[in-house]
Amino acid sequence: MKTATELRAAYLSGETTPEEIAQESLAVIAATDSDIHAFLDVYDDVAVQAAKAAELIKEKGEQAPTLCGVPIALKENILVKGKRATASSKILDNYICSYDATIITKLKEAGAVLVGGTNLDEFAMGSSTENSAYGPTKNPHDTTRVPGGSSGGSAAAVAMGAVPVAIGTDTGGSIRQPASYCGLVGLKPTYGAVSRHGLMAMGSSLDQAGTLTNSVADAALVYRIMAGKDPLDMTTIDDTTYPKVEVKEKYRIGVPRDFLREGIDPDVMEAFEHNLEALAKAGHEIVDISLPLFEKGLAAYYIVMPAEVSSNLARFDGIRYGVRAEGESLLDVYQNSRAEGLGTEVKRRILLGTYVLSAGYYDAFYGKAETLRSMMRAELAEVYKTVDIITTPTAPTPAFTFGAQGDPLSMYKQDIFTVPVNLTGVPAISIPMGTVERDGKALPVGVQYIAPHAGEERLFDLGIRTYDQR
Ligand code: GLN
Repeated sequence: MKTATELRAAYLSGETTPEEIAQESLAVIAATDSDIHAFLDVYDDVAVQAAKAAELIKEKGEQAPTLCGVPIALKENILVKGKRATASSKILDNYICSYDATIITKLKEAGAVLVGGTNLDEFAMGSSTENSAYGPTKNPHDTTRVPGGSSGGSAAAVAMGAVPVAIGTDTGGSIRQPASYCGLVGLKPTYGAVSRHGLMAMGSSLDQAGTLTNSVADAALVYRIMAGKDPLDMTTIDDTTYPKVEVKEKYRIGVPRDFLREGIDPDVMEAFEHNLEALAKAGHEIVDISLPLFEKGLAAYYIVMPAEVSSNLARFDGIRYGVRAEGESLLDVYQNSRAEGLGTEVKRRILLGTYVLSAGYYDAFYGKAETLRSMMRAELAEVYKTVDIITTPTAPTPAFTFGAQGDPLSMYKQDIFTVPVNLTGVPAISIPMGTVERDGKALPVGVQYIAPHAGEERLFDLGIRTYDQR
């Protein structure tokens, strides 16, 4: 499917209409989604929304809102009034949202056609979408492999051509890693750049909503619509008061060499080296940097995140939301609803989180992890005095086959390069950097660029020049 930017031009020139594109979107879903399973719900009012968008374009022409008639899919942990949002959990099987997330309000105002809710790892916990209570999503590049996760449904929806844009959430890599596995551009904005109001919270100090798209220009377009201070989310930032991160002709790009010595597939590392060469050829300066604390990120993340998960998921008790199991007493209802409604990975993290927060262990685990986190921020601030952007591969491997990461630890290692970004709150983007071959198939892999706080424009600038205009 055309990009959002191309669609707008095609609508304005009369080459096509939002109705035609909405039909195309639904036709792709009808033809391929029984196999791929990117969607949990396809909204029944897609045609109505498209007709409204078409009206607006007729009426307003160039003045029509930016995303008028652009089909967008949404990870199903984002609230859309009147629609189901399951977060891929049995406990929310019957949950219908009573209000719009702030980003949904903004996308609606921008004229987007909301197509449906996409599959994810339950409550966004995972790296493969295998943890969905509704069954996994397949990678459109190779259906024997996972699309990545947790925003695997959103990534697959774009990769299979159903929509030009899908929204995901990223707590430790859940937009960037599936973007890498599915050959897409994935943006995780600065913490606080985009409102979290109406997103189901996983790790509140880590979560951000962002985009999965086929071009960097589309990521920029949709980001600019979603970003901004929101009175309903006190952690959102007013970027006019933020130090300006300039766009430059040539960037100094830092490579944390020590961090990249082990655990990366050799051909992924080769693709990464080729990308560095291309950057140097384009006139950017490539320098080695050292980020020793970043390497500890994964350990800190798997303490901080479960702690926040255990607290955020306490609300799913069978009383306030979703599915209720029977019980003799109120406590039984809580226990039975959670026992039946939540999956294994979710329970594992709730237990882990409750443990690290418990009185006797708080200082030893949670306190230490938070200390490390502030030290990581300081380390990063120091490095950004000498470089403009940091780069790593997005993930150490291409998409893996179903069941390949049998134990939780090997799955967690997929996030080694992405979690430090959430812990420090800076923005990052994953952009395709070629393919590697597995079982005779060419599988996409991504490069990650990390900018200082509120440095999204720098990522877009580098990305558009090196990828969109390649
Ligand atoms: N894969 C990571 C995890 O399992 C990140 C998840 C996310 O970003 N939502 O926690």
